[in-house]
Amino acid sequence: MINPKGGRLEMMKRLALMYRMQVANIDKFEEKLRAAEDELNIEGKDRIPVSYKRTGFFGNALYALGMTAVGLAILWYVFRLAGMTGREGGFSAFNQLKMARFTIVDGKMGKGISFKDVAGMHEAKLEVKEFVDYLKSPERFLQLGAKVPKGALLLGPPGCGKTLLAKAVATEAQVPFLAMAGPEFVEVIGGLGAARVRSLFKEARARAPCIVYIDEIDAVGKKRSTTMSGFSNTEEEQTLNQLLVEMDGMGTTDHVIVLASTNRADILDNALLRPGRLDRHVFIDLPTLQERREIFEQHLKSLKLTQASSFYSQRLAELTPGFSGADIANICNEAALHAAREGHTSVHTFNFEYAVERVIAGTAKKSKILSKEEQKVVAFHESGHALVGWLLEHTEAVMKVSIAPRTNAALGFAQMLPRDQHLFTKEQLFERMCMALGGRVSESISFNKVTSGAQDDLRKVTRIAYSMVKQFGMAPTIGPISFPEAQEGLAGIGRRPFSQGLQQMMDHEARLLVAKAYRHTEKVLQDNLDKLQALANALLEKEVINYEDIEALIGPPPHGPKKMIAPLRWSDAERERQDTGEEEAPQQPPVRGEEPS
Ligand code: ADP
Repeated sequence: MINPKGGRLEMMKRLALMYRMQVANIDKFEEKLRAAEDELNIEGKDRIPVSYKRTGFFGNALYALGMTAVGLAILWYVFRLAGMTGREGGFSAFNQLKMARFTIVDGKMGKGISFKDVAGMHEAKLEVKEFVDYLKSPERFLQLGAKVPKGALLLGPPGCGKTLLAKAVATEAQVPFLAMAGPEFVEVIGGLGAARVRSLFKEARARAPCIVYIDEIDAVGKKRSTTMSGFSNTEEEQTLNQLLVEMDGMGTTDHVIVLASTNRADILDNALLRPGRLDRHVFIDLPTLQERREIFEQHLKSLKLTQASSFYSQRLAELTPGFSGADIANICNEAALHAAREGHTSVHTFNFEYAVERVIAGTAKKSKILSKEEQKVVAFHESGHALVGWLLEHTEAVMKVSIAPRTNAALGFAQMLPRDQHLFTKEQLFERMCMALGGRVSESISFNKVTSGAQDDLRKVTRIAYSMVKQFGMAPTIGPISFPEAQEGLAGIGRRPFSQGLQQMMDHEARLLVAKAYRHTEKVLQDNLDKLQALANALLEKEVINYEDIEALIGPPPHGPKKMIAPLRWSDAERERQDTGEEEAPQQPPVRGEEPS
């Protein structure tokens, strides 16, 4: 402490006028003050006395302690509030986080999904039937000393009925079904995922015999990092380890079967797939024509239809190659919604046509967003695709070409009818590239300029060209070599399994292929300019043209009919039924956007 200068009496007077302030730098403060007093010529006795008081260590510590206590009190209060809804007092909020949040369906109730609700998937059903038999009468297996697989992995694209099949197993076996999605195990808080796995299996054991279903298991079952330098997510690994431990810990007498599903089996950790864990692999692919028909039949059952359901199911199945079971369910629902919206008492064929188009390309946009000039470009672009598809030998059938704008950002679309084909020759792939290039080439030769509208097509062409060179071994200079497809978004990351030189050669080959396809397409369209013009004009006039219209305009396809299905339009088929007196055909209002033929 620094004592004030000046006499005692003066000091008493000044004390009456005392100011307090906080100063960061003591030396500087007093220096400045004295300098100011010097400047003002204030005499020594009148100068302001300054005394300093340091807040001591004790005071600071007390202040910090106080603040911590307040913080803790707030935290305690928050936990208590959360705990009110929990079961075990103050810590129940955390306990609740550790609990697995699964959905439970009790198979014993007898109202669940059974095998007959799962259409198609005959092989998959056969495979999982074994689990049903085991869960129903485990003794039969145990007395022979057989070890029933502890689980099965259902593999397949989204929406193809994996969850449905797992639920059917539970219903058929009359056991509870505990379902949880893989991503629900994943948390940022360390150890929570593993705790949830423990909780799920504890519950399953308590309810045994039962089925544990883990959807999208790739969220927790990713390959564990093998390199020290690799980014490892310890929380994820801990969760996976716990899952492995639980599956190992289950004895054959526990009667808990684990079913899991994913569409990324390639990224799953091998430990998860080894015998004794998820060793059964059931592949469920997109439905074939026959299976689609069965799935349609299944979903049409619940609709009020104008015709018998078999009338729709065959045609709809033919119209929807590459669709999943979920898409099919969606089409049926969209058709019913459309019929209800339009005030019909039952679902008509045009409701289904609307639904298929809606699922493929979105709804038609009411407002015209294209200028006349742009519409012309779109008409020639789509006609280019359609004409190349029509004239080449290995291309797909054109069902319908439309330039009515759709909500899925498609300014126009050519609806193809892809075959259920699994193997492609070099020529077939080449012609597919030509068909995709048809739009761009048509724009180029019709207007002598190109637009951004071909982006999607060009991406497709690039993908085909690179697949032919890099994966299918179809480029003579590269030879029969195949490299894994680069993951989207990860291109260039990680080590490439080939040299820079080979990369350059492959790029060169892919470019050559695309250039060859471009030249071929150009020739095809140049030789048939009149047909291109005719198609584009018809499109500009009607907005939508279909197979029959194209045939009437430019003649039948030179390489034989392109239709895999009976070349009957629905309306013709209906008329035919009417003629043969099979069924009353309904009064059909004109289909939106289509000219009655
Ligand atoms: P995934 O689990 O493979 O993603 P889901 O099993 O959840 O697909 O299927 C979604 C929906 O699709 C089901 O609720 C059902 O309506 C329909 N679906 C899929 N496959 C079939 C099928 N084989 N039979 C009947 N409906 C199916």
